[in-house]
Amino acid sequence: MRKRPIKSTLIALTIAGLGLSILTACGGTSAAPAHTSPTASAAPCPGVVSPLTQAEIDKALFMREEEKLARDVYDELAAYWLAQVGTVPVVTIADNISDSEQQHMDSMKAVLDCYGLPDPVDAAETPGVFIAPELGQLYATLVAQGRLSQLDALKVGALIEEVDIADLQASIEISQQAYTDAVYASLMCGSRNHMRAFVGQIIKTEGSYTAQAIDQATVDAIVNSPMENCGR
Ligand code: ZN
Ligand code: ZN
Repeated sequence: MRKRPIKSTLIALTIAGLGLSILTACGGTSAAPAHTSPTASAAPCPGVVSPLTQAEIDKALFMREEEKLARDVYDELAAYWLAQVGTVPVVTIADNISDSEQQHMDSMKAVLDCYGLPDPVDAAETPGVFIAPELGQLYATLVAQGRLSQLDALKVGALIEEVDIADLQASIEISQQAYTDAVYASLMCGSRNHMRAFVGQIIKTEGSYTAQAIDQATVDAIVNSPMENCGR
């Protein structure tokens, strides 16, 4: 388990349960905790399983890395903006959501383990390293974009969640097994909450949000509906 790049914050926005709860805490001097381990995966490995098709395998491997992309970008931007300007909402949101992305990564690792698939992510889960070349390029692009301004960092977050939702939807369409269906659905639920958090902050600043990767109606429907429980 890697170290967190930054100390947890004076104000932590937690995306959990039925809504966006705001926790306040004092201090800020102790070592940052590692990403929390998942308390429960979306669904248990069903044990004796029928093998995945190659298309299902490809999606599972890609989603494992795509969830890592989200975690790594949020960690990097949270650390960057904390260093630039101190504790700000974009930092707290990204820092907190990255814990959720770690859980999503862990859920996908459980899928790979369930089907005996090799993990494309190295054992140390080294930040910024990807097997899929498009994800490596996307990581570099999004980190650079997110350093332009805090608003840009929020838009990077919203874009990542849009792409994640689209790719999870594609994964569900290919998936032929209840277990992988359940995992993808759980991750997508988390992505909808993350989108609500990022877009909510963007709307506070700019008054509106323009979809970047998926259609505006889908984004609006998500953003205009309440935070979800996501099976917790
Ligand atoms: Zn995720
Ligand atoms: Zn997310």
